Amino acid sequence: MNDQPQEAALQRDGLSRLTAEVLAACDALACQSEVEGGISRPFLCPTTRQVHAFLSAWATRLGMTTRVDAVGNLRSRLESPVPNAPTLYLGSHLDTVPNAGKYDGVLGVVLGYALVEALADQAAELPYAIEVLGFSEEEGVRYGVSFIGSRALVGTVDDALLDLTDPEGVRVRDAIGGFGLDLAELAGAEAAPNSLGYFEIHIEQGPVLQDLGAEVGVVSAIVGQDRLSLHFTGRASHAGTTPMPLRRDALAAAARLIVGAEDLARAAPGLAATVGMIEARPGAGNVVPGEVTCSLDVRHADDAARRVALDELLALAEREASARGVEFRAEPRMTERAVPMSAPLRALLHQAAEEEGLVHPELVSGAGHDAQIMAGRMPAAMLFVRSPNGLSHHPDEQVNPQDVEAALRVGARFLVRLAESVRAGAEASA
Ligand SMILES: [Zn+2]
Repeated sequence: MNDQPQEAALQRDGLSRLTAEVLAACDALACQSEVEGGISRPFLCPTTRQVHAFLSAWATRLGMTTRVDAVGNLRSRLESPVPNAPTLYLGSHLDTVPNAGKYDGVLGVVLGYALVEALADQAAELPYAIEVLGFSEEEGVRYGVSFIGSRALVGTVDDALLDLTDPEGVRVRDAIGGFGLDLAELAGAEAAPNSLGYFEIHIEQGPVLQDLGAEVGVVSAIVGQDRLSLHFTGRASHAGTTPMPLRRDALAAAARLIVGAEDLARAAPGLAATVGMIEARPGAGNVVPGEVTCSLDVRHADDAARRVALDELLALAEREASARGVEFRAEPRMTERAVPMSAPLRALLHQAAEEEGLVHPELVSGAGHDAQIMAGRMPAAMLFVRSPNGLSHHPDEQVNPQDVEAALRVGARFLVRLAESVRAGAEASA
């Protein structure tokens, strides 16, 4: 593991200096917020301009050209000297949840620029163009729909999306115009026809890497998920005078489902099942609950396994309801398929981490990411950086500097190995 290639990219001193620069950039961008004393940056909010100015200045120092596309994605490009070279996209998102931490999204964008800097002169010699992406919208805070930024690259921003309104009644299209952007240029936001792939570095937002003692991990897939509203309808009645056999207790039926979901998910590897919301009516201590509405969230990296689990849970709810004379109805709210990450790009990430002497576990992403959208158009891969205490979507979100440096080392080596494989492919086809 110590047979360091000659690549200038992988100079240790340079990488620890760059790590400090990455962390300083995350600190600086955390000050660009719509609220004082916290970080909040919804889609196309005014402080986005300062974020763009900061990153554009960095891009200019790296010899990149920067534009903001029709939906507000920041895009900095470094051309390849090779004619008709494909484009490799690197990035993450610049919007945040309310009262966010400093690293969710931003870290991956900043690391995109840092990787171009890490490759130094080699970056201008690569057989692919690099485009660093700072997506304008991933979290879905302003419009209740996620991934507006990456949807523009894969061509799935449509009129229905553009006509959605925020709580102030501002449509997506008006927010875009108000920011000084032109929807007529939407087609120009699409990814290049010959896209080599998309690579995103993101904090894990969970405790798995910390538990494994790993700095970074290779994402195998982004989970698929089902979200439903469940309705149990029984009959409210007097808690003292209604004998147990004659009750139609909706909450007792729902409770069996909740416990069953936990039991099933604990026993099935890779399955997550959650009832996060429940409302019982009429909601009095001395009344048998007649009506219950609750949520059900089921996730798995394998779509078939998720469907089997969901069917099992709905059958359980049906059984427990009918045993109590309670009617049961399930209302689907959202279904998203699992998205496996590109096998060749994953293999290169493992190779890069191995060469850097790092452990490189594979893990599933339980949260959604832009990579799942980009995967619809090109090979996509993700590297997770350990989240201390698994904390995210919280102002105390942290990263360890040595983990950020590990991500830089793996990322830089990945880009070099990818260049080798592109050159080998070009020679083979010549
Ligand atoms: Zn994120």
